[in-house]
Amino acid sequence: KLKIDDLYKHYDQKGVIEGLSLDLKDLKILSLIGASGSGKSTLLRLIAGLEVYESGSIEVNGHSVTADASNDYRKKVGFVFQDHNLFNHLSIFENIMLVLEKVHHRNRGEAEAEVTQLLDQFGLLEHAHKKPHQISGGQAQRASIARAMAIKPDLILLDEPTSSLDPVLTYEVLNAVRKLAEKSIDFIIVTHEIGFAKNIADHIVFMAAGKIIEQGSADILNAPKTNELKSFLDKIL
Ligand code: ATP
Ligand code: MG
Repeated sequence: KLKIDDLYKHYDQKGVIEGLSLDLKDLKILSLIGASGSGKSTLLRLIAGLEVYESGSIEVNGHSVTADASNDYRKKVGFVFQDHNLFNHLSIFENIMLVLEKVHHRNRGEAEAEVTQLLDQFGLLEHAHKKPHQISGGQAQRASIARAMAIKPDLILLDEPTSSLDPVLTYEVLNAVRKLAEKSIDFIIVTHEIGFAKNIADHIVFMAAGKIIEQGSADILNAPKTNELKSFLDKIL
């Protein structure tokens, strides 16, 4: 469940989120689309509790989210950033171990078994010992999703998870997300790829200048009602 009420956020006087409201009883897979600079990443960071906002409110599954949100909330939210954000000096294996040991205080043996299983699931076992710069963009992206998964989150936020991937790898990410969603993990996914959004999302939100212009099922992409969404789709297709 996601409820956002009249949310405002600005950076140095400039409004970035301007009175945004959204009410979804069932979150499942939500996709955020919109032009560059429309505020998608900012909204995602606000939902993650990583940034302060000026006014309004955000509620996720009964938790009121603020930048000083309790750790309990953050520990149940996985975040995959626009640029995968893996630690470059650590191997893929250690990147995930770190989260389990330092943040979730799991003992080493238990954590190792979990990390091994996760990497296997994402087809990354043979790359486990490599550092992020030694693997492909798609592998790094999957490693980053695997790391977000490691904490067994209720909600995973993905910021353009397929931006550096070819169509085959994009399909792999799509499948991975679908499978996880079946296990009742909710997703909010920012994407530039309309095909990806169409394929995966239960609900699509189109943003412009910090506001929601249009929302609904994938149908809104086939039959947009607003001129804003129409011209956005014309430009990118
Ligand atoms: P893109 O599709 O290019 O990733 P976006 O929709 O994710 O764009 P945001 O990153 O949310 O857009 O940025 C929205 C606006 O806020 C932009 O005008 C951006 O320049 C501004 N902005 C974002 N982060 C900051 C920051 N830390 N300080 C100042 N301005 C920022
Ligand atoms: Mg962005």
